[in-house]
Amino acid sequence: MAVFENPEFDEHEQVCFLSDAATGLRAIVAIHTTSKLGIAGGGCRMWPYASDELALRDVLRLSKAMTYKLALADIPSGGAKSVVIADPKTDKNEALLRALGRAVHSLGGRYVIAEDVGTTPADMDIIAKETPYCAGRSGGSGDTTPPTAYGTFLALECAVKHRLRRDDLKGLKVAIQGMGGVGFRLGQLLVERGAELWVHDIRPEAVERAVQQLGAHAVGAEAIYDADVDVFSPCALGDVLSEEHIARLKCAVIAGAANNQLPTDAQAESIAARDILYAPDFVVNMGGVLGAAKLGTATDDKMKASLHRIVETLEAVFTTAQAEAITTHAAAVAIAKAKVGDHTTTAAGKVAAALWRNPFIARTALRVRSAIASARARS
Ligand code: NAD
Repeated sequence: MAVFENPEFDEHEQVCFLSDAATGLRAIVAIHTTSKLGIAGGGCRMWPYASDELALRDVLRLSKAMTYKLALADIPSGGAKSVVIADPKTDKNEALLRALGRAVHSLGGRYVIAEDVGTTPADMDIIAKETPYCAGRSGGSGDTTPPTAYGTFLALECAVKHRLRRDDLKGLKVAIQGMGGVGFRLGQLLVERGAELWVHDIRPEAVERAVQQLGAHAVGAEAIYDADVDVFSPCALGDVLSEEHIARLKCAVIAGAANNQLPTDAQAESIAARDILYAPDFVVNMGGVLGAAKLGTATDDKMKASLHRIVETLEAVFTTAQAEAITTHAAAVAIAKAKVGDHTTTAAGKVAAALWRNPFIARTALRVRSAIASARARS
């Protein structure tokens, strides 16, 4: 399996293949950049990939998007991601997660793992038994889903304002693909503002909940691309904006939380050619990293205020795309690339990063942070 010749390889600093015979662990960690601090962060996706090649492709693409996302969020960490080739419903157990934790620990703090599709804050609690280099734990302060959903809502609202010239969402028709943690919360926010939903999920119970609680219309896996709606919001997995699907869409706006919605950059051109406004995924779902930086230490209002960074970034993306006659995806990549490695790193920051690479100090710092978060939650 070629790595350096892989079309998705983008001069990633490190790509590690991790295995553990006793537990059956098969994982790949891709560190795209480590920033001036020598640290990279990104979630862990557990998915029953059909082949090692597909897992590698996913982790290379996801880690690159993390670099862009963190740069846009002004978080001085590089971007990384990990994938575990396993079915979270049947293969996930404590031994496997602990083996993953030990493997992450062996990277000496260069990679900080967090949850993603197929992993949860409870899984991070188990991984944290083996390494301090683990974010997104439970205890009320670890779940990035609410800020991601709220950020996705703000992005969708901003794109609608820009493309449809309307401030309110009353009667807006939105198709949401994937009614999981983010999709369902996004649906709630939209319905509260008077929008109408068309939804699909591969889990019938998730669709049923949306129908019962949000008055959503259930549609099939393929019918969601043909839905007569104003907005299409991919909130499941990536690669959904294929040429065939783009040709069928009836919406004016695409704005959703799923990572890597475009199979390749070429599809951004096809979307623009159909006069559909595409809100780039790694800007729309920035709420996860913006939220993670503040979880447990900020009030709800401060957290929501910090998510307005998404709106400011999207407005800059739309303006740049228009001014330079490029796609919104190309504009977002250009803005992000200009910021990568641009963080001012103070001497104190460098010392803090060096201390962080010491497991004892990292563990103690995380305990202190967690204690502060619990105290705030109680008060
Ligand atoms: P989730 O696992 O809670 O929900 C995903 C949902 O999509 C599930 O209900 C699943 O059944 C459904 N699904 C899977 N394949 C599908 C398909 N082919 N068609 C329709 N539905 C399908 O995940 P989430 O936390 O809601 O995240 C959703 C997306 O947003 C993911 O792509 C994730 O990477 C991205 N994202 C999430 C966060 C976060 O903080 N949760 C942050 C950034 C990006």
